[in-house]
Formats: sequence, C-alpha cells, structure tokens
Amino acid sequence: MSQYDTQVAIIGAGPAGLILGHLLSLAGIDNVILESRTRDYVEARVRAGVLEQASVGLLDLVGVADRLKTEGLVHEGIYLQFNQQRHHISFGELVEGAVTIYGQQEVLKDLIGDRVRHEWPLIFGAEVQVIEDVGSAKPTLRYRDKDGDHEVTASFIAACDGTHGIGRSSIPSMRTYNHDYPYSWLGILADAAPATDELIYAYSDRGFALYSMRSPSISRLYLQVPSTEDLTHWSHSQIWEELSLRLASTGFEVTTGEITEVGLTPMRSVVSTPMRHGHLFLAGDSAHVVPPTGAKGLNLALQDALDLGVGIIHAIKGRDYEDLDGYSDRCIARVWQIQRFSNFMTSLMHLNYSADEYQRQLQRADQRGVSISRAEATSLAERYVGRPLDDRARSISKWFV
Ligand SMILES: Cc1cc2nc3c(=O)[nH]c(=O)nc-3n(C[C@H](O)[C@H](O)[C@H](O)COP(=O)(O)OP(=O)(O)OC[C@H]3O[C@@H](n4cnc5c(N)ncnc54)[C@H](O)[C@@H]3O)c2cc1C
Repeated sequence: MSQYDTQVAIIGAGPAGLILGHLLSLAGIDNVILESRTRDYVEARVRAGVLEQASVGLLDLVGVADRLKTEGLVHEGIYLQFNQQRHHISFGELVEGAVTIYGQQEVLKDLIGDRVRHEWPLIFGAEVQVIEDVGSAKPTLRYRDKDGDHEVTASFIAACDGTHGIGRSSIPSMRTYNHDYPYSWLGILADAAPATDELIYAYSDRGFALYSMRSPSISRLYLQVPSTEDLTHWSHSQIWEELSLRLASTGFEVTTGEITEVGLTPMRSVVSTPMRHGHLFLAGDSAHVVPPTGAKGLNLALQDALDLGVGIIHAIKGRDYEDLDGYSDRCIARVWQIQRFSNFMTSLMHLNYSADEYQRQLQRADQRGVSISRAEATSLAERYVGRPLDDRARSISKWFV
C-alpha cells in the first residue's frame, strides 16, 4: 500500500468538495480530492440549477465565474401559480436580489477544468473505504483506485461525499432527523426553448408542476407523483400532456421537444448533527438533504464548504482555531433555517394526498398570503434569493497566494 501525507484530504468531487479544494489551494494549503466516480460521470450528472447570489459571489471569488457570467440566466423573480392564477414574486422590487440559472454540472465542469489546469491534486476512480483516528491530530483514510490501495494522513479530513458517503458513519453519537414526503418529482430534460422567462411553480388539483430551464434551448420540468410511482407507466406524450394540464393558465402554452432524460427524485429531508468529530468535518449532502422545492441543496453545500474553508484557512495560516470550532454549530443553525424554508415551499405548492378539508383550507390561506401580502411575498423572496456573500467570506482572499 502506498502512503502519503497532505494537509487536507477531501472526499468527493461534488460542489462542496470542489469549492473547498479551490479555497484551500488558492490559500496555498495542500489538499487532495478523492472521487469514486469518473470525471465523465461527474460532469454529466444533471441535478440542481438555481444559484443564489452568494453562490455566484463565491464562484467569482475563486475565479471560476467567467462562463457563468456569460451563459447564466439572471432571474429577478419567479411565478407562483395556484389553480391557473399566476402571481409574480419580483425579487428586484421586494429584496433587490436575483438568482442565476446555471446547471450544477456546468459549475462542476468549471471547477474541475480550473483545478486540472492548475495541476491541483484530484483523483477520479478513487473510492475511500476507511476513515480512522479522527480524534487524533493526524487522521487517516484509505482508498482504492486503479493502481491499488493507498493510505493518506492529513491534518483535517473533509467528508464532502454526499448522502451515501462514508463520512457520516465515521462520526460517533451522531443524531439524524429524517422526514420523508409521500411524493417524488418526475423530472425531464428536454430540447425545447422555455415558454417562460422565469421559473413557474404551479399548484393544481392534479398535483404540483415546475417549469424551469437550463439554457435558452433546454427546459427542465417536473411533475409531482406519488413516492411509489413507477417511471415505466409514463410515456413521453403523457408527461407533456400532464405538464400542460398542471401549468395551464390563460394564454400560456408549454413548448414541447425531444425528452433527453427522465428521472425520479424522492422528496425528503435529513439533518445529521454534529458535523464535526475531532479532525473530521462533514459538508453538504453528507450531513443534510432538503427537498428541491426551495432550490437550496446545491447552495447549502457551497455555503458549508465556504464556512469550512474559512475555518481551515484561519486554523492553518493564522493558527486561530476559534472559527473552525464554531463550524458545526453555525452550519446546523443555517441548515434548520433552510429546512424550514424548503418545507414551507414544499407544503405550499404540493397537493397533500391525505389532507383533510381543514388542512386544505390552511394551505389555501398560505397561498393567498403570498399572493396578496407584500410582507409574506417579501419573506419568500428574501429566503429564495439568500443573502449576498458576506465580508467574512470575502476577507479570506487576503490569504490567497
Ligand atoms: C437526482 C437529484 C436531483 C437534484 N435536484 C436538485 C434541484 O433541482 N435543486 C437543488 O437545489 N438541489 C438538487 N439536488 C441536490 C443537489 O444536487 C445536492 O444538494 C448537491 O449535489 C450537494 O453537493 P455535495 O457536494 O454535498 O454532494 P454530491 O454532489 O452528492 O457529491 C458527493 C460526491 O462524493 C462522491 N463520493 C461518495 N462516496 C465516496 C467515497 N467513499 N469515496 C470517494 N468519493 C465518494 C460521490 O461520487 C459524489 O461525486 C438534487 C440531487 C439529486 C440526487
């Protein structure tokens, strides 16, 4: 078995692992990213696509926002539709913010391309199988790749390894909170110019539908389906028909095109706490999952990685461990805020199959609230757009070499 030493070992080349690696490398801190999948697989995996303003600011801070700035679609609002009545939530008017539509896989391509160009260590096809001694000052991990088995010792290990990673199970006395929704999203990617300038979240008595896009020629649409749904029951023409019915509104028509991908995303929430044990840290989906209705999973992963990056840079470069010591508590507080928002958006927009009439009336009251009350619409807009990148984050650029 080969052995080597680095300052930070990062498990996973998703958004969390890659942005953390960038922050550390820019600050001159040695790190290696180990990713079990191939580069082609990671760069082709279609997932999220809505970037909050802080996420755009972060990608800009680490120098990988050129393509995002030219190809990303800036949206200053969203449409909420309740039984064919469409309401515009204007971020520009309510909170002076915006989100940018840019696929998660495009973010990953930009980060991986830049990392490879700089020759910062990133190993694909490297599956981490063991994490040990996390309570000591030199934790260890072992991974296997095409060349055999390897052992890495590091000052810190960052498990950015997603929902099914190994990091979470390496934290003793972890408490996990789970909530499963009784529905999933049937999602399609289609070669079709979007028929809308901004995302449409539509509630109807047939169930929820979301009209989103990835570019001026590619649409990404979703249908709420029972969590037990079998994809083979849906032909492409049925999917388009159901989308048209749920998104119907006066003078509006869904543009159809060739469906290039179909998938099911279960709707669930997970919070695992704490996000640190000794010198092992969790970031992103390895510690929490949110239903995609609030478009927060990717953004939350980037925020964790930024927070961890700032803490590690202060610890290694400034010999100041206080920031890192507060990492888990800061993240968990933020995660519950985001869980609250994601649950609110999910409950607001989805057909609750088992609700009684009392619960349906409460949902209608919430739907009326965001449609007619500026205060309620502002609260939604503020949480959807998120805050801009703060000074604490920006200040780390002083450590960049
Ligand atoms: C199908 C799907 C659709 C989604 N759609 C949306 C959406 O519309 N909107 C939204 O906001 N969010 C969405 N999300 C959530 C969002 O994509 C995630 O929150 C985001 O990817 C989290 O980033 P991450 O870096 O924490 O984890 P991941 O992106 O999951 O990255 C973890 C990486 O670790 C690697 N890994 C795991 N175990 C090991 C190991 N032992 N050794 C080495 N590498 C390992 C994995 O291969 C993976 O590349 C979706 C997620 C899924 C699964």
